[in-house]
Amino acid sequence: MPEKSGVRQEPDAAFEPEEVRMNQNDPNSTPPVRRKPVRSAAARERSRTLKLLLLIALVLALWVLAIVGIVNLLKRDHTPEPGPADVTTVPQTAEETLPPEDTAPSTSAPDKNGLLFETKEVSTSGIYRGELILVNRDHAYRFEENRETKIISLYTFWRNWPAYSYKLHGSDIQLADFICTKMSEMFDAFLEETGDNGYLITSGWRDYEEQVETVKEMIEKYGSEEEAMKYTAPPGCSEHHTGMAFDAYIYTADGAVYKPGAADMPALYNWIYENGARFGFIKRYDEEKSDITGYSGESWHFRYVGKPHAALIAEKNFCLEEYIDFLRAYTYRNYLEYTDPEGAKYAIWYEKVENETVVTPAVTDSAGTEVAPPVIGDRFPDQAALHLPQGVPCEISGDNVSGFIVTVKLS
Ligand SMILES: [Zn+2]
Repeated sequence: MPEKSGVRQEPDAAFEPEEVRMNQNDPNSTPPVRRKPVRSAAARERSRTLKLLLLIALVLALWVLAIVGIVNLLKRDHTPEPGPADVTTVPQTAEETLPPEDTAPSTSAPDKNGLLFETKEVSTSGIYRGELILVNRDHAYRFEENRETKIISLYTFWRNWPAYSYKLHGSDIQLADFICTKMSEMFDAFLEETGDNGYLITSGWRDYEEQVETVKEMIEKYGSEEEAMKYTAPPGCSEHHTGMAFDAYIYTADGAVYKPGAADMPALYNWIYENGARFGFIKRYDEEKSDITGYSGESWHFRYVGKPHAALIAEKNFCLEEYIDFLRAYTYRNYLEYTDPEGAKYAIWYEKVENETVVTPAVTDSAGTEVAPPVIGDRFPDQAALHLPQGVPCEISGDNVSGFIVTVKLS
């Protein structure tokens, strides 16, 4: 920033010579040289010349001071309002010579919903975590960034859950701990509203190796890899890695088994399609969206995305890919306001994280010959500044692609 460095080198004490300061305080003061006792005409002439030079120096110094003053004044006048959008201007002004109050977070007025925004630094590793991460053939699940997700035994959880509102296909099914709760609450509502507990959980969390095995089994089942891959994900790209997805079939009290959504399924079991969103769950793979999701319809696979997103997805008939794309159009300045079917009002917006360019230098051998050229690549910076409302709880989820989705409950 050449402009800034120019200004920063402007006057300090060293710039203003001692003699000039003396003259500045008292224009009639005499410089020490005048105290010499004997003075010839030539000496007087030299003295006059010296006085003239000092006067010129003084005028020049005053000029410089005046110009610096004007420049600083103009810079302050043109410094943008420190609004929340000016992520880049915050550090810039902080380095400059402005008073501290000019670098404080936004003090602009709250918006129509009373939200007052400030910027907050977060780790960009969060892009790969959260309830709204998109995991598909293009965007693999990031195990390392999610190592703290707590995966627990659904069987143990289920045994301790007060209501017997669903069934398990085996004792080895696991899910993220909070999904066990959310899912059980959903099936409790089903039991309460219908008196039935026929949903049967057949699959939950899978690690990478388990997905390798699943792919092998699917190839055997469908006869070819091509056919199998219509229904199952390559290892690393399965939603089951997240612990937020489960597969459910139907196992009735009289022992009949149905595939959800099948033509012969009793209408009662449409309940999960009609009510899952109330509990934050969506049917993830719809046949008519298979071009976008990359999977044929899977009427048995459910994924947690949270409230109010599940309701919005259902209302707009989006698949998750479409929904995340839709949210990317909203910023904190122009957020989506949504009132869910239960009357709760939300603000939702997207915070995109810009890549930074990283240059890896060329590799040379001991003789100095280049053995690998320099590599220019993009990556996310370690930290990103998000625009968040002051003093208001908000949910932040990565999208597993390029940024964060912020959700605020307004009322
Ligand atoms: Zn599944």
